[in-house]
Amino acid sequence: MISNKMVGLVQNSSVIRAMFEEGKRLASIYGAENVFDFSLGNPSVEPPRAVKDAVIEVINEENANLVHGYMNNSGYEEVREAIAASINKKFATAFGQENIVMTVGAAGGLNVVLKTLLNPGEEVIVFAPFFGEYRNYVSNFDGELVVVSPNTETFQPNLNEFESKITAKTKAVIVNTPNNPTGVVYSEETIKALADILNRRQSELGTSIYLISDEPYRELVYDGIEVPYLTKYYNNTIVGYSYSKSLSLPGERIGYLVIPNEVDDFSEVVAAANVANRILGFVNAPSLIQRVVAKCLDSEVDVSVYNRNRELLYNSLIEYGYTCVKPEGAFYLFIKALGEDDKAFSAAAKEHNILIVPGSSFGCPGYCRIAYCVDYKTIEGSLSGFKKLAEEYLAK
Ligand code: PLP
Repeated sequence: MISNKMVGLVQNSSVIRAMFEEGKRLASIYGAENVFDFSLGNPSVEPPRAVKDAVIEVINEENANLVHGYMNNSGYEEVREAIAASINKKFATAFGQENIVMTVGAAGGLNVVLKTLLNPGEEVIVFAPFFGEYRNYVSNFDGELVVVSPNTETFQPNLNEFESKITAKTKAVIVNTPNNPTGVVYSEETIKALADILNRRQSELGTSIYLISDEPYRELVYDGIEVPYLTKYYNNTIVGYSYSKSLSLPGERIGYLVIPNEVDDFSEVVAAANVANRILGFVNAPSLIQRVVAKCLDSEVDVSVYNRNRELLYNSLIEYGYTCVKPEGAFYLFIKALGEDDKAFSAAAKEHNILIVPGSSFGCPGYCRIAYCVDYKTIEGSLSGFKKLAEEYLAK
């Protein structure tokens, strides 16, 4: 018999993954070209050429033991040094290899941080809508997830409610900008206000509240928008980065944490993150791909491909009568569900072979997420279905 906790988790297993399976089923009936699957955030743009070249270079040129062996649980020192230097160049920071822990993607990084920080019953605040896996990651370490309700006008965080939800039990706050599922980038003004609140509440309560910045979409931004680097605004910030989207390598499972010297109990936090990486069973981030990303620090996927998708989908949906905050980053649109019930609306979309994820999965009922990391043709093909769907609802 599996554990009681897992029974519940299996039952509530991700709606998004279930949709992905449904997409494959529909494709086998109607043909892949007639199914418009917007359910999963799986990058559709090829990794940059530099990644392929680096894989070959690393395999051919380096000593096999160095490429495939165990190393420090934080990752190769020279890789961490190269990453720190690249962050410093981009954001005028002053990190060294001692501030970087290589992780198994952002998911691995978040689990390492939460294992490092949480005692049972301690609280982690998130802003709705949020990546649904946060719920599971916090529960992995018997923490309590505290959700701040969405500000559906702008999808910037609701800061008044945030402040009221900080208690003596608050250990961490997770922010994700550019955001999954809204594509919204938190403005510098928002970040400053959030940092002020955290500083104020920390000193009132006499506790340490860590801000975890989950940043897999940092590089995926449009119209030249800047994404503030959060360590510059609040000392107790830990950054979780991933190459899953910036280099289109989600299956390779590679990312890193930045733990600045300024965080409270820096040495203990770094030591604990190392041990967490090991005892969670990751041991270390995959060795070959660590070396590969270190050679590709100036490469990014071609974001113009996603931008073209964004423009077509956003402009068309607005024309058909849908409501949506125009995303400035990531590859998601978060539309208001017609008829208010997101699950019913996503089921109605399926009748047109369009797969979208109800906002309830992100703690924001009444909305649906469209992942536009798909072929342009998929978007073109889906438009008549979206139009008919709107007409059905608007005629009611
Ligand atoms: N955080 C957010 C907000 C995500 O959207 C995802 C993946 O979609 C992750 C974390 C996990 O990313 P990774 O593949 O790097 O583990």
